[in-house]
Amino acid sequence: MRLSLATEPASPDRANEDFIGATPDAVVLLDGAGTPADLESGCSHGVAWYSHTLGSTLLAGMTQSTDSLTAILAAGIKATASMHDFCCDLSHPGSPSATVVMLRRTADTLDWLVLADSVLVLDVLDADPMVICDEREALTGSRYRAPMNAAVGGTSDHLQALSRYMDAMRAHRNVDGGFWVAAVDPLAAEQALTGTVPIDRVRAAAILSDGASRLIDRFHLATWRQALDILDQDGPEELIRRVREAEHSDPDGSRWPRGKIFDDATAAYGRII
Ligand SMILES: [Zn+2]
Repeated sequence: MRLSLATEPASPDRANEDFIGATPDAVVLLDGAGTPADLESGCSHGVAWYSHTLGSTLLAGMTQSTDSLTAILAAGIKATASMHDFCCDLSHPGSPSATVVMLRRTADTLDWLVLADSVLVLDVLDADPMVICDEREALTGSRYRAPMNAAVGGTSDHLQALSRYMDAMRAHRNVDGGFWVAAVDPLAAEQALTGTVPIDRVRAAAILSDGASRLIDRFHLATWRQALDILDQDGPEELIRRVREAEHSDPDGSRWPRGKIFDDATAAYGRII
């Protein structure tokens, strides 16, 4: 696999809450979520610590074990919780969580796992790109987004609406009928979407956090096919550059209403054939 990747925080003075890591046969991407750093969350470590610790734990698990990706994710969630359950209040509704994408190449197959709203795109032979995204968070969120979308980005009204939106979403996190993310409960792993494709059917794979996929699925400035072409020809940095250009062109979110005017953005692209 010829792999290239890029990741960039929403702003240079903030920690990047995305995680991307790879070995020759595995790629892991996480997008951390949780309480803004200045609010009480029950966890003294923070969102970036959580996503980076779980991400590196998953990468180690994929290197050490041939278990299913679901089993490796469940073990990783449990191991990461055990690193701070003795000092942090993990029952707090604002404790850190993360989306997860795992990709593993074996001799014959490409195995994948997607939990929450990061995106995996498989460029398969003789077919349209296969786009795998867990829609449950977006579906839940669509019920609460209207006040946030109506407020002008960057204003106190928008910040208040975003805060109320996040409070509303917490009630649906990791419960049946809501949406599932990696947090404290290893059972969330069983809610992930998973699959396997024959390795000789896949030309390339792209993994994007929602801060990068917004170029396609929120701004509609590229199709998935065009995004794969950008990644292949110009690399992940170019995809993120185009995201930033679009964000700067709409600084108050009037054209593309969104909770975060700028977001951490991560893209990885692996050429397989
Ligand atoms: Zn903690």
